[in-house]
Amino acid sequence: MSSRPVIALTPHQSPSRLPPNGKHFFIWTIGCQMNEADSAKVAAMLQEVGYQRTENEQDADIVVLNSCVVRQAAEDKVAGKLNSLARLKRQKPEMPLVLTGCMVTRQQEALRARFPHVDLFFDPSDFDKLEAVVPELAELEDDLAALPHYYQPETSAGASSVSAFVPIIYGCNFLCSYCIVPYRRGKERSRPMEEIVREVERMVSGGVREVTLLGQTVNAYGHDLPGQFGLADLLRAVDAVAGVERLRFLTSHPKYMSHEIIDTMAGLRSACEHMNLPVQAGDNEVLRRMRRTYTRDLWQERIAYTRERMEGVTVATDIIVGFPGETDEQFMQTHELLDEVGCDKVHLAMYSPRPGTLSARWEDDVPHEEKHRRHQTLEHLQERICTEQNGRRLGETYEVLVEGKAKGRWSGRTRGNTLVHFDDDRALLGKLVDVRITRTTPWFLIGEGTGTTR
Ligand code: SF4
Repeated sequence: MSSRPVIALTPHQSPSRLPPNGKHFFIWTIGCQMNEADSAKVAAMLQEVGYQRTENEQDADIVVLNSCVVRQAAEDKVAGKLNSLARLKRQKPEMPLVLTGCMVTRQQEALRARFPHVDLFFDPSDFDKLEAVVPELAELEDDLAALPHYYQPETSAGASSVSAFVPIIYGCNFLCSYCIVPYRRGKERSRPMEEIVREVERMVSGGVREVTLLGQTVNAYGHDLPGQFGLADLLRAVDAVAGVERLRFLTSHPKYMSHEIIDTMAGLRSACEHMNLPVQAGDNEVLRRMRRTYTRDLWQERIAYTRERMEGVTVATDIIVGFPGETDEQFMQTHELLDEVGCDKVHLAMYSPRPGTLSARWEDDVPHEEKHRRHQTLEHLQERICTEQNGRRLGETYEVLVEGKAKGRWSGRTRGNTLVHFDDDRALLGKLVDVRITRTTPWFLIGEGTGTTR
């Protein structure tokens, strides 16, 4: 999963149902917004039963690590962190050490053998497993699903959160040849629509104005639930919650990006004019070996249709360069596609094999220097495209949701997810502000508040 950078997050400070018990929890998170959201949920649960957060693991009465395995480097970091905690665990054997996230599979023997000092491994969609080491959570039995997933961006100004991530579907039914997620997160499991809507209602009553629905394949939402409903229905239901000003979703699969979803986005007040649709490669033969199950034409058609239906929509995509067997001609197909379509944001990655996936059995035959060259080539292309596209925004006015302040300047995002820094003397954290753009760069815009806030 990709998209905007993850900001440091803390759980929403709602009053606990139980008084403080003098115990502290420490949570360490790596990976995508799904993990951030899951960690926030764990934090909310622990706070509900009287625990308080500590930023220092030495002071903790329970330590939770939320892991990621999408890249080898992330998995190595988790292993390093776990190993570094072995000493603390020897000093405080009564302190539960918990591992969750994508590293935790249903077969846990290998993990147990590798990290014998970990007390509990639990699947992130199975929160009630935490009761094994925090028995107080049993008191929340009926309410676990109802706890808010939301949390507050920590900003220098002391933060009041307006943005929330809401996981709506776990797992993935695709089997892209390079991806470890299906092996770690299992098959798709959608959360009931009513539960999600109730959660959003609670968030809004706590001050949230922007909701991002999350899933590894978010637009597969509902396929596994009884009844004939899907993401379009959920978008309508969340949009109907009074107080939701902005609605987004991540990450979509092109195959499931139906015209119905696009039409629904176009017709909803809160749905943001932003489409995040990973293409991964511009060559059909590479896409076939990636097992992506669509062609370049299908992806392009979905983008064209979105642009037709939503004026001014911005587009983000993901690309992997140097996939096994990718020839220079095939890479140039990707280059040509990006040049033609002109995305507003491209998340670029160099291919690296993940043990356990299909493509890891194939020769990783594009040399590192060549992967690097292709990466840089696309970076330069994207810089040129963004310079032109952002240049056209000069003098325009955009609604910005203010997320924080750095170096004396407010920053936030447009509905199209473009980062904007701007000057304004008012207290604006969490406000929607109209900002007139006075300078552009390829990566962000600079402007000034026009006086209109909501
Ligand atoms: S759609 Fe493909 S890349 Fe995305 S999570 Fe599923 S298997 Fe991985």
